[in-house]
Amino acid sequence: MELLRAVAELRRWSREARKGGNAVGLVPTMGALHAGHASLIRAAAACCGQVAVSIFVNPTQFSPNEDFARYPRTFEADCALAQAEGADAVFAPTVEELYPSGAATFVEVEALGNRLDGASRPGHFRGVATVVAKLLIAAEPDHAFFGQKDAAQVAVLRRMVADLHLPVEIVVCPIVREPDGLALSSRNLFLSAAERAQALVLSRSIRQVEQFAAAGERRSSALIATARKTFAAVPEVRIDYIAAVDWATLDPVEIAAPGTLFAVAAWVGQTRLIDNTILS
Ligand code: AMP
Repeated sequence: MELLRAVAELRRWSREARKGGNAVGLVPTMGALHAGHASLIRAAAACCGQVAVSIFVNPTQFSPNEDFARYPRTFEADCALAQAEGADAVFAPTVEELYPSGAATFVEVEALGNRLDGASRPGHFRGVATVVAKLLIAAEPDHAFFGQKDAAQVAVLRRMVADLHLPVEIVVCPIVREPDGLALSSRNLFLSAAERAQALVLSRSIRQVEQFAAAGERRSSALIATARKTFAAVPEVRIDYIAAVDWATLDPVEIAAPGTLFAVAAWVGQTRLIDNTILS
């Protein structure tokens, strides 16, 4: 597996990789890789002859008061996992490499970028869209792999790729969960044992909404009320948002339909966690 540090090296690697007729896959991550990331890398390796994993904790998607400095960094283990799951290259640039001194260009996805996590974390999706655009332009992948875990991010990136005419297919992979339901997240490392138990309320609320919807309830207000009731049983956890939205536009819907995104975000102690389901 190759370790690439410079944008020019990534571009060279990608152009070389496709010479044999290979499709190129890109899996963007912020490292601290877990089984959720592994599933993306496996999906990429199954679909593409050559796969690059990027590992970059992107400062522009964190607000000044957020956890950029203490975001977990486990580079050696990340490289081992990426290689074991079939990555051919890891791209791990410095901040100065991706944002050279004087960098002044950002990608803003209007409307969607200010919904859900974008509403709670102003500037977050501007940072995400900017770094993913840089990665897609440098790596020129045929397919780029993202987790449904960050469903609002997927909506923002699909919009960006369409608007900028980027020649890449976005592939969305299912949420990987712990056996007890907790969605895997690098931020789970921050949870104490007590918080880890409290955090289960997110996946529990999602499961209950899925069951309620499967039983025929279509009113978003009723689905949201059910989730709120579940959260009320764990008062230590503070709800950020509970929403039923159109997955493409992130506009709230009154009546849920197949494909509606039902998403929750909540604070467990100092850690903000998210979860969601696409209603069937
Ligand atoms: P991150 O390193 O948190 O930026 O995540 C990198 C990619 O992994 C994103 O596309 C995430 O949606 C995806 N991802 C994170 N957690 C999970 C999970 N539990 N299941 C599936 N994909 C995930």
